[in-house]
Amino acid sequence: MNRQFDFLMPSVNFFGPGVIAKIGDRAKMLNMHKPLVVTQESLEKIENGPVVQTIESLKKAGVDYAIFTGVEPNPKIRNIKAGKKMYEEEKCDSIITVGGGSAHDCGKGIGIVLTNGDDITKLAGIETLDNPLPPLMAVNTTAGTGSELTRHAVITNEEDHLKFVVVSWRNIPLVSFNDPMLMLGVPKSVTAATGCDAFVQAIEPYVSVDHNPITDSQCKEAIQLIQEALPEAVANGQNVEARTKMVEAEMLAGMAFNNANLGYVHAMAHQLGGQYDAPHGVCCALLLTTVEEYNLIACPDRFAELARIMGYDTTGLTTMQAAEKSIDGMREMCKAVGIPSSIKAIGAKPEDFSLMAENALKDGNAFSNPRKGTKQDIIDLYQKAYDGI
Ligand code: NAD
Repeated sequence: MNRQFDFLMPSVNFFGPGVIAKIGDRAKMLNMHKPLVVTQESLEKIENGPVVQTIESLKKAGVDYAIFTGVEPNPKIRNIKAGKKMYEEEKCDSIITVGGGSAHDCGKGIGIVLTNGDDITKLAGIETLDNPLPPLMAVNTTAGTGSELTRHAVITNEEDHLKFVVVSWRNIPLVSFNDPMLMLGVPKSVTAATGCDAFVQAIEPYVSVDHNPITDSQCKEAIQLIQEALPEAVANGQNVEARTKMVEAEMLAGMAFNNANLGYVHAMAHQLGGQYDAPHGVCCALLLTTVEEYNLIACPDRFAELARIMGYDTTGLTTMQAAEKSIDGMREMCKAVGIPSSIKAIGAKPEDFSLMAENALKDGNAFSNPRKGTKQDIIDLYQKAYDGI
């Protein structure tokens, strides 16, 4: 290994059952006098849920707060504008996001427009932020996007239905909280979708052109944990061990893609999510096997290693035969947790594929995909995912 690479993650990460109780003291240590708690109404209503426990801890530490509950799934620009307005009216000085990727990305978006200018669409791209965000902590409640650890803010423009990404080291929360006890009540369908997102986020960085030895080991461990724990977490959400393993996996996958980037699955899934407002994890899972089958010839050795990580015995197989086993493993996992077999399930329409393909190739995730495709290749991949896995 003879090259340089960066490795980015939050400076402090609290992990394990009960860590949420520490948030009040940590807010005080960071001199947060009045954080804006950015979340969803449904999460605020959960009895003794993540929002209630966050507020209790803040109150105990004597930290004032205001609550913004206007985050929509696949957060929109209008959510960011409303959150910024409240931050200013309430004279807040910091942000605490509570929820899954939607809450974290909305909170990052609010922070971005507070210090970098009102038009967030102009900040789409890589390292576009000149100024630091207000201090930001993230309480994560899904396993998951990894957004509580990452430099990405994924936002949907409700006018043109385009999902865009602001990627900057300045977006990385100062502190992340991953408490599996906050995830016991996550519904089955959300557990499956978010778990598949973590699975994809462990696979894409492994075959990314930007992978490095640290991200490789994180991906390996994350894939094994997800295979052990995701079907059980979906079947029995109250299983603390399965939830804990999924949190560990989503953190590892989050750290991996934060540094090794992703690929066409995410670049294409962002278009499905923006166009049809569908759950992000489902969009990723629906595209996974189609895209990775296409990628096989770019790095068969890496896919063969993936097959071995997934537990396949590849003795006596050619490299390509071994590589193909990894696709079987991906297909099996998505099927086991109830992912449908076609993008028809989220309302995809072939007449949209051309524009979505064009935009997918502009998405920042496209650049690290191991195989370089044309617009027609991407249209064909959407069509294949439409015709069925
Ligand atoms: P989400 O945040 O939209 O949450 C999904 C649903 O689960 C919501 O209805 C929410 O209320 C519910 N929920 C969350 N936690 C719960 C809990 N503890 N108990 C009960 N219900 C709960 O879903 P997500 O998959 O976590 O995030 C998706 C978003 O994140 C998408 O916009 C996607 O593009 C983005 N994303 C961001 C990154 C990043 O690095 N910034 C990475 C991947 C995806």
